[in-house]
Amino acid sequence: MRQDEERLRFQIGARDGSARAGVIHTAHGPIETPAFIPLATRGTVRGLESEEVAGLGYELILGNTYHLFVSPGPERIAKAGGLHGFMGWERALITDSGGFQVFSLAHGGVANEVKGSGRSGGGHGSKVEITEEGARFSSYRDGSELFISPEVSMSVQAALGSDIALVFDECTPFHADRDYTARSTERTHRWLDRCLAWHGENGPERQAVFGIVQGGVHEDLRRESAQAVSEAGVDGLAIGGTLGRDKEEMHGVLAMTAPLLPEEAPKHLLGIGEVDDLLAGIALGLDVFDCAVPTRLSRHGVALVPDPEKRFRLDLRKGGWEGDRDPIAAGCPCPACSRHDRDYISYLSRAEELTAVRLICLHNLTYMHELTIHARTAIEAGKFNSYRTAALAGSAPWQAIEKAMETD
Ligand SMILES: [Zn+2]
Repeated sequence: MRQDEERLRFQIGARDGSARAGVIHTAHGPIETPAFIPLATRGTVRGLESEEVAGLGYELILGNTYHLFVSPGPERIAKAGGLHGFMGWERALITDSGGFQVFSLAHGGVANEVKGSGRSGGGHGSKVEITEEGARFSSYRDGSELFISPEVSMSVQAALGSDIALVFDECTPFHADRDYTARSTERTHRWLDRCLAWHGENGPERQAVFGIVQGGVHEDLRRESAQAVSEAGVDGLAIGGTLGRDKEEMHGVLAMTAPLLPEEAPKHLLGIGEVDDLLAGIALGLDVFDCAVPTRLSRHGVALVPDPEKRFRLDLRKGGWEGDRDPIAAGCPCPACSRHDRDYISYLSRAEELTAVRLICLHNLTYMHELTIHARTAIEAGKFNSYRTAALAGSAPWQAIEKAMETD
């Protein structure tokens, strides 16, 4: 691990078992952890203005290198003052490497396994050719040929000016066998060295770099990868790649991988952050989580609620909410729950009014933010287990923290 306070400083303020509450200091301000990271995939948290996202309390959002590389392109964003200036976001930004989307095209749906059918890679029959040099693929916009290598990914992220860049890696799919995963993980380590070499010469001085631990579901490969990435001189670590075929296996692979990472590093779980998964990750000592699900659900009229039986989802797009005067979630401080009931939001959603998407998005992001800030309070009080148990049993975050605090 590299210790360079100009780029990034991580302080752990409290611990509770393996869980910890900390602060990641970046060039654009602090991020209190544990934290959920909303996706600003194409330079916006879809439907919301940057100031609204900050107003919800978020200190870190994620921009997507693949999409921004394809359009509008790094030169245009650089001229606007980087992604911060382009989208009017003054707090911390992390960018992914583009690898996840490129390799989703190549492998036919890493995104569809475990991580939900979400982060769209483009599709439309795109072909990807992977070589030692990098990955060549056709643009989903106009079919033109594009090439991403470790150097290209880092140069795009330099132009975007994110506070934290992620190294270019191959995201191995679940159906890859052990032999392929082993060879791919070794290549990812060679790409890591190339990313750091490019960044050392050309990268923004205050941009931190996180390495990505691969190795699929194989403990020995995860161990080797954790060691290789930790020793490479990165500022933080992310867990990537497939984590198994279902939630149960995912939680097992996470429990096996998390302890392999150095204690002092800020740790990012890539692409995972549903309510139960996020709580599992926090319990294992992971710090930040990005996930498309909360914002994507809002576009389908689905709100997050404290209902574990229904995977914490409330479907307002379907009928049956006429006359329901309750808010989406009682006690929720968000604009949707403060001012409107299920009857109205369901009506808007079924009428495909944009207001419904916005209200549910504001609610879902509030729910995730509440989940993490109260987790932080619970960790500081040594009550994280009680908090997690209450949240998984059907208490909303703001109720779960009260219940946890009442326990001995
Ligand atoms: Zn709400």
